[in-house]
Amino acid sequence: MSDIIEKLSQNRDLSDDEFRTLITSDDPILAKELSAHADAVRRENYGTAVFLRALIEMSNCCVNNCLYCGIRRGNIGLERYRLSPEDILMCCEVAYQLGLRTFVLQGGDDATFTDSYMCALIAKIRTRFPDCAITLSIGERSYESYKRMRDAGADRYLLRHEAADEELYSRLHPSEMSLENRKNCLRSLKKLGYQTGAGFMVGAPFQTADHLIADLRFLQEIQPEMIGIGPFIPHRSTVFANENKGSLALTLKMIGIIRLMFPKALIPATTALASSDPSGRELGLKTGANVVMPNVSPLSVRKQYDLYDNKLSSGEEASEGLESLYKKITEAGYTVSQERGDALKDPEIEAVRFKRNPYV
Ligand code: SAM
Repeated sequence: MSDIIEKLSQNRDLSDDEFRTLITSDDPILAKELSAHADAVRRENYGTAVFLRALIEMSNCCVNNCLYCGIRRGNIGLERYRLSPEDILMCCEVAYQLGLRTFVLQGGDDATFTDSYMCALIAKIRTRFPDCAITLSIGERSYESYKRMRDAGADRYLLRHEAADEELYSRLHPSEMSLENRKNCLRSLKKLGYQTGAGFMVGAPFQTADHLIADLRFLQEIQPEMIGIGPFIPHRSTVFANENKGSLALTLKMIGIIRLMFPKALIPATTALASSDPSGRELGLKTGANVVMPNVSPLSVRKQYDLYDNKLSSGEEASEGLESLYKKITEAGYTVSQERGDALKDPEIEAVRFKRNPYV
């Protein structure tokens, strides 16, 4: 094994210079080694299990104007929708019947989702499906709001930090959005005991290896239970319409690095990865990813959750294609898990946490 991968596996860390060398290397043998090693670490921790999450895209209405995103407020050409609580419960029912035990409620930062609206919805799902995990992904909110939803029964929260470097963040977002606020949201979620998901796009416009290193350093600070990364893919109605999409090779490399740094993390083979390359999902799984999120939203709204061009929302990325998805997962050498798929505790991180505050 090359020294650099050996060191990353042993220490779960590298110096900035070493990370830069690994990230910028175009040596296919190094990439192969990284992938094989990441797969071994995932098998040590999670065996061959692939956890499934039922993705419910509950609204494409958003108060934010992220420059790269197809559902940004400023995209006036997009027809907007919002699922009703009854629609969402129906999606959960369909997912449950299909054997899925985690519901991910994702949407734009939609002002309709007040705390009382969300808490009532979460409580209903919790009562009706007591054995399932409820994951939210509805953007930036206050500590109190996250607390209310946690108290109502939410277990997990996905909020990609998007870009940990201040300069890059400000080139991808309008000036009214703040990286510090986004980072603080993640700190609040951790504090409240959510299984917390951070993450970023790979190959976003202006992104350099140093920006990716800043992302890895921020992940080290947060120690998320879930880490979602996928390639940037341009959307025709954004200012980045003509930018290149993020490369498959670099996305896989970042997944591999993250698996070695965070052996217990839940890492999805994202829809963006599957959308950008026909074998993206399987390659992600073989490089350390252990989660897939089939879409269970009603067919009538799927095309409107239009984050980037050619986003997959059918076939193996959706509830109707589960059989075929299971086949692909099995053929890739993994097993579909019927469990909730909570994150394993990391004894090293727990020890540090205990040292900081033995009373929690
Ligand atoms: N509103 C919530 C939030 O901000 O976290 C959740 C929805 S947001 C649309 C979900 C994710 O889509 C973002 O975190 C972003 O990384 C990803 N995304 C948006 N536009 C994208 C693009 N053009 N290419 C790849 N991923 C994109």
